[in-house]
This record gives sequence, structure tokens and C-alpha cells, in this order.
Amino acid sequence: MSSLDPADWEAFRKQSHRMLDDAIDFISRVAQRPVWQPVPDEIKNAFAAPMPQEGRTLEAVHESFLHEILPYATGNIHPRFFGYVHGSGTPSGMLAEMLAATMNANLGGREHGAIYVERQVICWFADLFGFPRDASGLLVTGTSLANMIALLVARRAQLGPSIRTDGIDPARARLVAYASAASHGCISKALDMMGIGSAALRKIAVDTEYRMNVRALREAIAEDRAHGLTPFVVVGTAGTVDVGAIDDFAAIADVAEAEDVWFHVDGAFGALVALSEELRPLVAGIERADSIGFDFHKWLHVPYDAGCVLVRDSALHRDTFSASEPYLARLHRGLAGGEPWFCDYGPDLSRGFRALKVWFTVQQYGARALGDAVARNCAQAKHLADLVDAQPSLERLAPVPLNIVCFRYVVRSLDRAETNALNAQIVAELQESGVAAPSTTMIEGKLAIRVNLTNHRTQDTDLVLLVREIMNAPAVRKYSQEDALQLPPNA
Ligand SMILES: *Cc1c(COP(=O)(O)O)cnc(C)c1O
Repeated sequence: MSSLDPADWEAFRKQSHRMLDDAIDFISRVAQRPVWQPVPDEIKNAFAAPMPQEGRTLEAVHESFLHEILPYATGNIHPRFFGYVHGSGTPSGMLAEMLAATMNANLGGREHGAIYVERQVICWFADLFGFPRDASGLLVTGTSLANMIALLVARRAQLGPSIRTDGIDPARARLVAYASAASHGCISKALDMMGIGSAALRKIAVDTEYRMNVRALREAIAEDRAHGLTPFVVVGTAGTVDVGAIDDFAAIADVAEAEDVWFHVDGAFGALVALSEELRPLVAGIERADSIGFDFHKWLHVPYDAGCVLVRDSALHRDTFSASEPYLARLHRGLAGGEPWFCDYGPDLSRGFRALKVWFTVQQYGARALGDAVARNCAQAKHLADLVDAQPSLERLAPVPLNIVCFRYVVRSLDRAETNALNAQIVAELQESGVAAPSTTMIEGKLAIRVNLTNHRTQDTDLVLLVREIMNAPAVRKYSQEDALQLPPNA
């Protein structure tokens, strides 16, 4: 008896079914639970316990999970989770995770079925974005890493093979990158981690719709060239994190082409509008990108974590990461055959079977229903914007091009700092009440209640309830209705 397998498979089977039943109960009844609740101190303290030397029964460990972990979830599977940009998952995604663990596949490379699943998923999304079928791709933790991988390929394109052996040499080239001022923080973080430095990111001004000002982009590139710097990548965003703006990809592609710089699209959630016939024109021009980073765990509702990078030039992609090691020798037959070896396309050697949960999701729902869920969220955002606009004491702070609504509660007698504090308090109260969980952001110095809809469980009634709860939040009750700022309609 030395293996870690159960001694009694029948007992294991019974316990497994109980655990699955509990999981299904949890998901199917999630709407009846608070969206979020704080982790009690005694539970936090219990996590300080040292590593157990002796094990417990699976049943006992599961009891701990049920009482000490499961109730204190982020809340993103709840219909009234509106914070950040979180996907809401699906029950079948949960099962696919279990099946992937059953195989315990390692997708670094080698000849086995899981590799073909990942390759198929990559081809589906290459097709969706108008990339050639022979484009390369890689499933990764999320768009943060997908973007960094793309920037590494862009750097390899600019500097040639010596960047891999000799590293960065500022005497040879000082690289600069471009993205809109509304771009995600992971772009500057990637430059930081790449040794290029976050100061090498030119944050290009945005227009009134929060899209990159492409004329300003052209000017910034010209100015950098005049100073002897080397522009190497322009990042367009599909769905900025604050307001959901989508850059003009055709115009950016024209600039990138004329300037001979790499064009990458950060499409974390917004690129998925391509699944909807009706919304697809919003990302027109994305097919001209050199690379795209996007997430399955946000608007495709695949359980965390799952993102993807696509690269048009697969040879360049492989040249950025491949290395030959004798212990990873490729043969033409047996387990060492097979193509591609995904370890040649990114930093990881051992890689899990993330592709299976994506494959299950797309196979089960089909692209149309997934696109419809995206479109429904966008329609709901417009509906929420109307509800906000109809309330004199709510002020909308940004246009609603996609699925995000930013607004705040305003009181005539309060200055900006006090208004910001009031709105932060409203959001904290909402979250702590367990009724709804929006998050906050800053729009031109104004703290916004930010409602993001990447949630297939949200109903229109949830949005009505959200607005009512905001209007009745304890933080605003002390202000009389007359004190509420009277804004002109649709201000
Ligand atoms: C979420 C997001 C990212 C980061 O993606 P992760 O999957 O969280 O790593 C990057 N860009 C945008 C626009 C995002 O919304």
C-alpha cells in the first residue's frame, strides 16, 4: 500500500458524487446567496496553521472547504457581481476542469490528444479574428502574460536574434512602445519586466470617446525617431478597462504599416465582441494586427485561468522562445513526435490542459450563443445608462460604448474630494451588504461607481435593484432629496 490512490474506490466514488452534488447546489443557488462577504478573522487566523504531518479523510477536508473557503468567494459567479472585469464561469466549465485533471496532461509538447485540442482552439480564434490558419498561438494564464509574450515577439522582430543571447544594449537601440492613455497597466508592467522600463511606454492621449488619438500617435513616433529612439510596437486596446472603449484599429494599422512597427491588440475582453454578428464591426481592423492577446476567462466565461496570444508570423513567434535541449529532443515517431511543441512559443515548459475547458465551452454553447451573451451584456449596459440618466442625483461620467457604465452620486453641497469619498463609501456599503458588487475607478479625477457587465447571469431586474440600492445606500441617506444636484436630463 504505497500509492496515493484511494484504498477503497467505492468509498471514493460515493464521496466524489457528494462533492459534485454540493458544487452543483452551490452554483445553481448562487443568486440566493450574498454576492460577497468578508472572511471572518477566526477563519483567516486558522490559515496560519502549519503544514499537517498527518492527513485527514477526504470527507473531512471537503467539510473544511465547504465551511472555510467556499462561502468567502469573490462573488463573480453571482448575477450581481459587477466589479473589475470578471467572467462568471459555467457549470460545464467546472466539469471540464475536472476532466482535464483526470488526464493530468502536460501540454509543453509531445504527441498526445490534448495538443490537438489546444491547436484547434487556437485555430478557431485565429479564424474569428481574421488571422491566417497557420498563425501561431498559445493558451496562457491571462492577457497580462499574452500581451508580454506578444511584446517579446515584437522586440525579437525589431532587434533580431541577438536580443536572445546578448540582451538589451541601449547603445544599439533604445526601444519605445505606444498605447493609449487608457491602456491596461499590464502593458507598462510588461515593459518593466522586459528590462525596457515602463518609462519607454508613450501613453497617447485619448479623444472624448476614450479612443487613442491616432494623430497624436503619429506625432509621438516622429518625435521619438527625431530623438534617435526606436519605436517597436503600438498596442491598440479592444475594451479599455475604465469605460470599454475600442481603438480605431484600421487607422492604427495604417500607422504601424507606414512606420514599420509591430501592431499588437490587447483585446482582453473587448475582442470577444467578434462573436456577435451585430457587434463585430466594433473591432474592424483587428485582422490587420501582428498579434492579439485576449481572455477566455472574462467574456467567454471559461473558469479561471485561461487567456490566449495569437501571432500572425508563427516562425518569428517560435524564434522568440524555442531552445533545443537534448532531454527535449524531437523524434519523428513515438511520444517525442508531434507538432507543435507549445514550449517553443512561450516561457513555460510544463503547461496544463487549459484548452479543454475552452473547447467544452465552445462545443457546448456554440459561438452564436456565446456571442449573444456578449451582446446581451452590451444592451444591459445601455439600459443601465438610461436608468442612471433618469436619476437626477446620479451623474454619468463616461460614454457607454460597450459593457461598462461609470457614474457617481452627486450632492450639491459637497466638493470633489467629498463626493469621491461619498461614492467610495457607497460602493463599500454595497459590497459589504452582499446585495451587489460594483467596483470603482477614477474618471478625470472623479471617483466613479463602475459597473462592468461580463456576466451571463445578470438580469435587467438586477440592474434596477442596483440603482435602487445606490439611491437608498446608508451613505446617502443623510442628504435630503432637495440637496441632490439637479442635473439637466442626459447630462
Ligand atoms: C483584464 C485585462 C487585462 C489583463 O488580463 P488578465 O487576464 O487579468 O491577465 C489586460 N488588458 C485589459 C484591457 C483587461 O481588461
